[in-house]
Amino acid sequence: MLRSIFISLSQNITLRSFAERSSIGRTMSGRFVAGMTVDDALGASERVNRDAIAVTLDALGESVTTEAEARASAAVYHQMLDAIAARRLNANVSLKLSQMGMDFDPALAETIVGELVEHATRVDSFVRIDMEGSPYTEATIAMAERLHAKYNGRVGTVLQAYLFRTAVDAERLLGQGIRIRLCKGAYKEPAEIAFPLKADVDENYVNLAERMMTSGVFCGIATHDEAIVERLVAFVREHSVPKSAFEFQMLYGIRRDLQRRLAKQGFGVRVYVPFGPEWYPYFMRRLAERPANVLFLMKNFLKS
Ligand SMILES: Cc1cc2nc3c(=O)[nH]c(=O)nc-3n(C[C@H](O)[C@H](O)[C@H](O)COP(=O)(O)OP(=O)(O)OC[C@H]3O[C@@H](n4cnc5c(N)ncnc54)[C@H](O)[C@@H]3O)c2cc1C
Repeated sequence: MLRSIFISLSQNITLRSFAERSSIGRTMSGRFVAGMTVDDALGASERVNRDAIAVTLDALGESVTTEAEARASAAVYHQMLDAIAARRLNANVSLKLSQMGMDFDPALAETIVGELVEHATRVDSFVRIDMEGSPYTEATIAMAERLHAKYNGRVGTVLQAYLFRTAVDAERLLGQGIRIRLCKGAYKEPAEIAFPLKADVDENYVNLAERMMTSGVFCGIATHDEAIVERLVAFVREHSVPKSAFEFQMLYGIRRDLQRRLAKQGFGVRVYVPFGPEWYPYFMRRLAERPANVLFLMKNFLKS
């Protein structure tokens, strides 16, 4: 119930515009967002890297409506790819197709993302195409396939364990050697296409993760669910899965203790570092995942 409310609020344009301009909103978003500028994000990435944890940088933004906005989003990513190389950060980038023009001109979005993947190839980096709501699933997978065929190994995408179709999509991508990040899924999806019960999502997550970790294609296991992490750690020990076969991925500001513990145990860990003035939808999705965060933020805010 609360999850649905926060997800609906994440799409409210009036609230978004008010929140993103207010200083209170910016202060609160600091719990999950690494600042407003590229420099803020690079500084945060350097700090994360000091704990032997890799980063994927996300310049927040989605659902742009003009070519100029899409190109402006891409320009930030080009700047980041150069800065990552110049500062020798252990980092790559994650982007959303709706941020690159997908909603009004899919061909433009593909050109823009293709230019970014080409840039990533030049600087020995990698572009992850995040997965948005289900209207984007097929188009995102298809674009990742076309770009992978052109820039082998430099682009990957994300699959969501809450969708029924994901087991088939996983085989489709693994068959082509395309890197997958597996997450549970952050959007509101109907019961016709997604598991309504969390227990079913969790079970599907573990099955998919085990398949991916033993596929020979490097994968990202993106979850903060400690019970799942422990099950998968036991699985890799039991089945002698090399640590080089996968990495754990978590979001900036969430379960830092678990991130550090896994890195100390020698597992690959990557933190998703989002930044930028368009933080509102991302922030609301984080509240949707754990409404207790609202109380936590309110308490901290009142204390400060
Ligand atoms: C690196 C990364 C990339 C992602 N990319 C995508 C994507 O491209 N598309 C997409 O749909 N989703 C994406 N997600 C979000 C994902 O789908 C889930 O919504 C999110 O990770 C919460 O699920 P969970 O696996 O952590 O498990 P949950 O069962 O939701 O949570 C397990 C435990 O983790 C902790 N936790 C989880 N969320 C929070 C939070 N917000 N605040 C504080 N504690 C929390 C709590 O202790 C909770 O009990 C990504 C997640 C990660 C980690």
